[in-house]
Amino acid sequence: MSCKIGYFGEFGGRFVPETLFAPLLELEEAYREVASDEGFQKELKELLKSFVGRPTPLFYAESLSQMAGCRVYLKREDLCHTGSHKINNTLGQVLLTKRLDKRRVIAETGAGQHGVATATAAALLGLECEVYMGEEDMRRQAINVVRMELLGARVIPVISGSRTLKDAINEALRDWVANVDTTHYVIGSVVGPHPFPTMVRDFQRVIGDEAKEQLLKVEGRLPTHCIACVGGGSNAMGLFTAFRDDPCRFIGVEAKGAETLSGNGEIGVLHGFKSYFLQDEWGQITPTDAIAAGLDYPGVGPEHAFFKETLRCTYRHVSPKEAVEAFRTLAKAEGIIPALESAHAVAGLLAERWNEQDLVLVCLSGRGDKDLSEIIEKGVLQ
Ligand SMILES: *Cc1c(COP(=O)(O)O)cnc(C)c1O
Repeated sequence: MSCKIGYFGEFGGRFVPETLFAPLLELEEAYREVASDEGFQKELKELLKSFVGRPTPLFYAESLSQMAGCRVYLKREDLCHTGSHKINNTLGQVLLTKRLDKRRVIAETGAGQHGVATATAAALLGLECEVYMGEEDMRRQAINVVRMELLGARVIPVISGSRTLKDAINEALRDWVANVDTTHYVIGSVVGPHPFPTMVRDFQRVIGDEAKEQLLKVEGRLPTHCIACVGGGSNAMGLFTAFRDDPCRFIGVEAKGAETLSGNGEIGVLHGFKSYFLQDEWGQITPTDAIAAGLDYPGVGPEHAFFKETLRCTYRHVSPKEAVEAFRTLAKAEGIIPALESAHAVAGLLAERWNEQDLVLVCLSGRGDKDLSEIIEKGVLQ
């Protein structure tokens, strides 16, 4: 394994225009400082408690356990303020922006979840916020556009390329290059150039740290398996990191239509980092078509690519049908309507064969209210 800074094996790195190199070094330095700064960590912890509602519960899912044939616990990130784990990261990065003495944050968003989480953190901490969103996504997710505007953010339509997430990231990177003196770019997952994959993972590891403590308390033992859905991979890394050095197996569940690690992905470079991407024979990114918007990214965080190569984690994908079935199952059997993204993790659980002694921790990354109109429109519940 290579031990170059900012790499996980051969993946990661910092493939950016020269103008961004110095700002990334500055960010790395600032992040290193706050990572060990007691004042910063205390302030973040307090906000996670009083504003986000942490610690989130760990829930023993009895009916689901019976169906799966093992003991299943759900880490309830769906109960975070704004409805998913994304706020753990945006709050950390927006707080860091204040430390950098910058007054403006920008973000990219696909379905709008990360945009809403960034706008929320910016409203709370009094920073200007602009969010790049593909025109096509703005149409599909009109309610999240209203949410962001209510929170004081400006949503900028992206009309290049396929007018979706990948293009929104390109535009946000362009803005950042031009305005880096005043602006921090809040990336929404464990992707992008170093130090983003490391920093976002660290802001999300609260998921696994809490779950480990909670599970040890009720079960007196570690999980045998951890399962999470993988879009860019931040909720999965957030859960896995706490158990990295334990004898615990990891399963990452991708969506059919965006199966980068469990399907046809190949090694390449996009958005400033080296990883696996869905691409054609010329290295051009191919369109994705995942049923859950949050999983609809043609690449995956570099540490996941490393986990795949070193066999630390097994990656699989589930079909839209399996995901929707799991969505219904969890609603009916446990009284929890999950995000369609999180339903992929539950579908991954239900697709495996388990032993009675298995103790499985599933990350329920978000709640499903946001998906209902899409589900009605697509008619997938019939
Ligand atoms: C954005 C999102 C995801 C996917 O992002 P990761 O970085 O892979 O975690 C998963 N679940 C929910 C609810 C989301 O909003």
